[in-house]
Amino acid sequence: KRILIVGGVAGGASCAARARRLSEEAEIIMFEKGPFVSFANCGLPFHIGDVIEKEEALMVASPQLFKERFNVDVRVNSEVVSIDRRNSEIAVKDLSSGETYTEKYDALVLSPGAAPVRLPIPGIDLPGVFTLRNIPDTRRIREWVSANGSNRALVVGGGFIGLEMTENLVKRGLTVTIVEAQSHVMPALDPEMVSPVHSELKRCGVSLRLGESVTGFQSMPDGSIRAGLASGGEEQADIVIVCVGVRPETKLAREAGLEIGELGGIRVDSRMRTSDPAIWAVGDAVEVRDFITGGWTLIPLAGPANRQGRVAADVILGRDREFRGVQGTAVCGVFDVTVASTGLSEKTLKRLGLWKQDYEKIYLHPGHHALYYPGARTISLKLIFSKKDGRIIGCQAAGKEGVEKRVDVISMAIQSNRTVFDLEEAELCYAPQYGSAKDPVNMAGMIAA
Ligand code: FAD
Repeated sequence: KRILIVGGVAGGASCAARARRLSEEAEIIMFEKGPFVSFANCGLPFHIGDVIEKEEALMVASPQLFKERFNVDVRVNSEVVSIDRRNSEIAVKDLSSGETYTEKYDALVLSPGAAPVRLPIPGIDLPGVFTLRNIPDTRRIREWVSANGSNRALVVGGGFIGLEMTENLVKRGLTVTIVEAQSHVMPALDPEMVSPVHSELKRCGVSLRLGESVTGFQSMPDGSIRAGLASGGEEQADIVIVCVGVRPETKLAREAGLEIGELGGIRVDSRMRTSDPAIWAVGDAVEVRDFITGGWTLIPLAGPANRQGRVAADVILGRDREFRGVQGTAVCGVFDVTVASTGLSEKTLKRLGLWKQDYEKIYLHPGHHALYYPGARTISLKLIFSKKDGRIIGCQAAGKEGVEKRVDVISMAIQSNRTVFDLEEAELCYAPQYGSAKDPVNMAGMIAA
C-alpha cells in the first residue's frame, strides 16, 4: 500500500508513525511545505520567552529519525499543490528547486492544519506585525525583539495563544497590552471563570483593553507601530502579535472537490474519511462531531489532531476504528494562574440554544489539597450537568495548583457518559499534600447529586 501524507506536524506525523507500526510493508511518504517536520507548535511561545532556551528542543523528530526509525520518506520544503483524484495522484512542488512532480497513492491523508486568521485591516502586513504558527514565525519574532530592542508589545486577541505570548513577552522584559474584542479574555470560557485571569494579568503589569478592536496599523517615524482602535483611541507599540484565531487550510481539498462542511473545515466521517473514499483528513483542517451535542465543530487542539492521525492510519490499514468526537479539553497557564475546561460552557450552550431548563450549574471553591497541610490553594470549579439524569455536560476551573488534574478526571467522566453520581463515587488519590479524602471532584459530585 502506498500512503501519502500532506503535512508533517501533529496529525501527519502521528499518522505516519502509527501506519508504520501497523505495517512493515506500506510505503509511506510525508510531504511538508515548511522546512521542519514534527516540531512542537505548542512550545513556540515559550521559546520566544526563553523558557525553552534552545530551538532544537522544539524539534520532536527530524526527517532522518523518521527514515531511520520508521522508514518513512519525509520531504520537507515540498508543497502538495493539487490532487488528481481520478488518477489517484498528487502534484508536489519542490520549493527548493521550483520543480513540480507527481506521486501516486492508494491512500492519501490530509493534515494541512489551520492558518492564523489575517485581520482585513490596513497595515496588517507592516514590518513588526506578526502572527505565530511555526518555527520561521518564531525566529522572526525573536529577531525583531532583539534587533529593535522592543519594549512595548501589543497582543491582539486574548485567547490561549495571545495569553501565552503575553506571559512570554513579559518574561522577555516587554510591557504588554492586550486588546480583546469580547468583554473578557479566553472567550471560550464563561466570564465569571476568567476573572482570576484578569486579576493575574493586572498583577503582572499587563494592560487590558476589553471590548475593544483594532482598526488598523501605521508605522511611525520613530520605528514604532500605532494601532488605531474602534473606540477612537490608539495604542503605541514596538511589536504587535495578532492572535485572533485560526482558519482551516482547505485550499487543496476545495480545489479537489472534496466536501467542505458548514463551518469551513474539511468534512469527514467518524473514520476520518473525506467524501472521497481514498482520501482521509485529520487535525485542525477538519470539522468533527462535538462529543456532547453531536453537532459539527472546529477544535484546533494538538490532542485531537494526534488521535485523529492514528485513527486514519488504523482505518487505512484495515482496523475498525472510529474517532469519538471532541470535548475541547484545554488548559492555559497565565503567570501563576491555571485555567482549564472541558465540555460545553454555559455561554456556548446558550449560544446554541441548548441551555435547557433541566441543566444546572454549581460552583465550589475547595482547596487543591487538605487544608491542614501547608500550601493549600483554592480551586474555583464550575460544573454543568443535566438535572434529569445527572449527566455531566461541562466543567471549568481556575486556580494555582491541581486545576488540570480535576478537569482531566471530569473530562474522562464526560467521555464515558458518566454522571455527577459517578463523581461522588470516584476513588481518587489522597494523601494530604496531593488532595483531600473528599477530593474537589468528589465534592462537585456531592454538591450536584
Ligand atoms: P499542524 O500541526 O499545523 O501541521 C500542518 C502542517 O501542514 C504545517 O506544518 C503546514 O506547513 C503543512 N502543510 C499545509 N499545507 C500543505 C501542503 N499543501 N503541502 C505540504 N504541507 C502542507 N494545542 C494544544 O492542544 N495545546 C497547546 O498548548 C497548543 N499551543 C499552541 C501554540 C501555538 C503557538 C500554536 C500555533 C498552536 C498551538 N496548539 C496547541 C494547536 C496545535 O498545535 C494544533 O492543533 C495542531 O498542531 C494541529 O495539527 P495539524 O496536523 O492539524 O496541523
